[in-house]
Formats: sequence, C-alpha cells, structure tokens
Amino acid sequence: MRKNIVAGNWKMNNDLAQTEGLLTDLQKQTQTSDAEVMVAPSFTNLWHSFQSLRTSDIEVIAQNMHFAENGAYTGEVSASMLKSVGIQTVILGHSERRAYFNETDATLAKKVDAALANNMRVIFCFGEELEDRKSGKEETVVGNQISNALFHLDASAFKSIVLAYEPVWAIGTGETASPEQAQDMHAFIRKTLADKYGNDIADNLSILYGGSVKPNNAKEIFSKPDVDGGLIGGASLKAEDFFAIVNAF
Ligand code: PGA
Repeated sequence: MRKNIVAGNWKMNNDLAQTEGLLTDLQKQTQTSDAEVMVAPSFTNLWHSFQSLRTSDIEVIAQNMHFAENGAYTGEVSASMLKSVGIQTVILGHSERRAYFNETDATLAKKVDAALANNMRVIFCFGEELEDRKSGKEETVVGNQISNALFHLDASAFKSIVLAYEPVWAIGTGETASPEQAQDMHAFIRKTLADKYGNDIADNLSILYGGSVKPNNAKEIFSKPDVDGGLIGGASLKAEDFFAIVNAF
C-alpha cells in the first residue's frame, strides 16, 4: 500500500553553517514512525547535505529544477545536475514557484516530464487560493491543476509521483486547513485520479498535506484516511519540531 512521507521544505533558508547545524541536529533525532523522511535544502547545500545524510534514513531532495536538459538557461539547474549530486526526488509546482516565478501548469507539465525522463521522483504541489475557497471553486481549481500538469502521463508514471495538496491560504500563515477540510480535498484528489487512471493507481498514490503543519496539529491531520503525510515548511527548520511531526503517525 501507499507510503507515509514527511518532507521538510527549507525554502530559501539556511546558509552552509546553518545547514550543517540542522543536519547534525536531525541525526540526533529518533524516528518512531514508519514514515519516509526527506529534507529539501537550497541548491548550494544539496551536495553537502547528501554527503552528510548518506548513512542516515533521511533522503535529501531538491526544491525545484528546470525542464531543459542543459544549455543557455542562466541561473537554472537541470535534472541531470541534481542526479549527479545524488538527488533522486524533486519538489515541483510549489505555490511560491507558481506565484513569484510565473510557473504555469504548462511549464510544470514539462518539468514533470523532464524529472521522470531522468528517473526522478516528483513531489507535485498544487492548491487553491483563499478566493477560490470562498467562492466554492476549490475542487475545480485543484482538479484543473492536476489534470493540466499530469493527465498526459501514462499510468506507469504514477509510481514516481507523490502529490502534495497545499492550500495557498494555509502556507506560512499559521492557518491550517482543518483535518476535515484536508480529508475532503484529499478524497476528492484520490477520486480524480481513480476516475482517470483506476483505483489501483489512486490507492497507491501518497497524497501529502502542506500548510502550517506543526507538532501540535500533525497527529490529527495525519490520522485522516486519505492524508499520507506532510510537506512541512516553517516547522522543518528545527530538528525537534520536524521529528515531532515525523513521529506523529
Ligand atoms: P509552512 O509551509 O509549513 O511554513 O506553512 C509549507 C510549504 O510551503 O510547503
């Protein structure tokens, strides 16, 4: 059956010294849950983090990548570059990438293809904005984000895909979706996948929740049947908080 996953998205935080400190703290933590654990440092600290966590069960993943294989894309990083420093998994479509860097569903479809062509695993993020929810459009928005970026894929691609539902209004705001709101949306997402690809694919897909997950609310959110883990921002920057969430299963 599907895996439980807790991934820490460090965003644009932690220089090299701070990264070393957090990596050391992470390795002092004890895991009591069966969740797969991942952390996403910045590009400049990926190689160092990969080396440091080589002997631990924590996977180092990337926050983003470009869709081109190489060439004249100043400032960008490709899938093969990530692979060459040991990275096997990439977060794509985070709402901050969509909002501040104009990433569209069409761009994201290309990024997903590039990651899969390089045998990488993708954590694909999406989620509605507050206005969408206020006007009752959250399922339409989320359904479109998923179908526009993923529904060109063959069913077999989904063994390398993890979904992350992150309502934009809950990211970094301290406002979490209620466990019921998360469950309702996750059930809708799984049904959307089942309608297109069948129950086998949908049932085996891990769907993470992200948006102000903290040690004090993780257990209730993770207890919902269609919530298979979390993508954690702010609370992933402290090893104790992050592992309190990892161990909330
Ligand atoms: P947050 O961020 O936990 O700080 O709300 C979540 C995310 O953006 O992945």
